[in-house]
Amino acid sequence: MEKKTCWNLENSYRSLPGVFFTSQNPEPVHAPELIVLNEQVAESLGLDVKELGAGFLSGNVVPEGAAPLAQAYAGHQFGHFNMLGDGRAVLIGEQITPGGERYDIQLKGGGRTPYSRGGDGRAGLGPMLREYMISEAIYGLEIPTTRSLAVVTTGESIYRETKQQGAIMTRVATSHIRVGTFQFASRFGEVDDLRALADYALRRHYPDGLDAPNPYLFLLQEVIKRQAALIAKWQMVGFIHGVMNTDNMTISGETIDYGPCAFMDAYDPKTVFSSIDTGGRYAYGNQPAIAGWNLARFAESLLPILHDEQEESLKLAQEAVMEFPNLYEGHWIDGMRSKLGLFNDEEGDRALAEELLNLMEENQSDFTNTFRSLTLDNADYALFKTPGFSAWKEKWEIRRNRQGESMEASQRLMQNSNPSVIPRNHRVEEALQSAVDQEDPGMMERLLAVLKNPYAYSSEQEEYYIHPNPSSRPYRTFCGT
Ligand code: AMP
Ligand code: MG
Repeated sequence: MEKKTCWNLENSYRSLPGVFFTSQNPEPVHAPELIVLNEQVAESLGLDVKELGAGFLSGNVVPEGAAPLAQAYAGHQFGHFNMLGDGRAVLIGEQITPGGERYDIQLKGGGRTPYSRGGDGRAGLGPMLREYMISEAIYGLEIPTTRSLAVVTTGESIYRETKQQGAIMTRVATSHIRVGTFQFASRFGEVDDLRALADYALRRHYPDGLDAPNPYLFLLQEVIKRQAALIAKWQMVGFIHGVMNTDNMTISGETIDYGPCAFMDAYDPKTVFSSIDTGGRYAYGNQPAIAGWNLARFAESLLPILHDEQEESLKLAQEAVMEFPNLYEGHWIDGMRSKLGLFNDEEGDRALAEELLNLMEENQSDFTNTFRSLTLDNADYALFKTPGFSAWKEKWEIRRNRQGESMEASQRLMQNSNPSVIPRNHRVEEALQSAVDQEDPGMMERLLAVLKNPYAYSSEQEEYYIHPNPSSRPYRTFCGT
């Protein structure tokens, strides 16, 4: 009989040496119930939404062809090295799409594994819906990210500070290989294990590198390039990841592990939302430097295979890591030019952009709405009535007029580069509250619909761009554990 769900699973991760994973079925749950399903993602995976019930999405039913496992990895958490691994996630397998692409299908909250370290292996409904919403918002913003196929409740309670409904999120990723996976290989494996992981990562993400003169250097350089591009994209929309530990940084260049992340309102590089980030290590303005630090850890883990001679390895690693700030800065200024409607490069562009950011900081101006209002040429926007801004605007207009492209083209570029809506913290919270406490997902669904096209500047978006009352308490986020 034809299998309608169209699971087409492979298990290539199992070709790696055994140290990298442990076979682990998801732990069955009491009464799974589907809360939200991403039809677009299901279809792109070649899965039939009608057949894709809570059984599969909770792990109670293991699809044909699956050989579930938990991945081993390590990582620096807030600068401290730890052995980690999937403590509450199970990789079901790799779905091969009708187009031949390979995606990891992972159940987050799927039960205890050998890497659970005393945790219960479970996740709460609020944090899983939050990850679902923010990762889909990041996708809508055209930023590389893991995606969310579904969230189900388990019919079981979990105990954190308070009792919560247990939930499982199905995460879809081009892979779950992390900087921390390489750190694990380097610290706990043999050189052959490390080489096997690097070969696997190359095959999966950077196949061009397989024929490069030094494939492992190629891998290092490409990951650095992708991360430089990714972090610049985060900065352009005011996204604060919140927990940029090395285990939360992918080799693919996708955003992963949406825990205490949130979007900045008023522009301030010191902005931190995470309740546990008391030192501001992962503040908005620190993200590029932290990415550089994490990539240095990646480079270190590759030292044994970059070259036969240690000294040469170190030199290659250092040269590669030193490129990160230049690559990042290049993406940053390109991004800022687009946000300001500038097509060509001029020397003074960085100063022009920084001057605007300084004005925004002085005036505690909302990051998204400032650029949105610039795009719409909205003279009523508070910042635009300040004398400092008028002087800046004059320079900007002269600069814009100096380029060959028309003002209309410049405005279009701005519209495509400055989102009209982002997942505002108060909006996310109210949608979550309604979905979790009132069991009414309507508000979340409307928010998700609006966040699909953040560059549309449509009338439905109007109510979503209002930022919160500045007198409201500082927003705090918590790790989704
Ligand atoms: P995160 O902060 O989500 O990146 O998680 C850090 C580590 O803690 C990872 O190894 C997770 O798998 C593990 N972890 C988080 N929550 C739990 C839990 N409830 N049970 C077991 N392990 C967990
Ligand atoms: Mg993590």
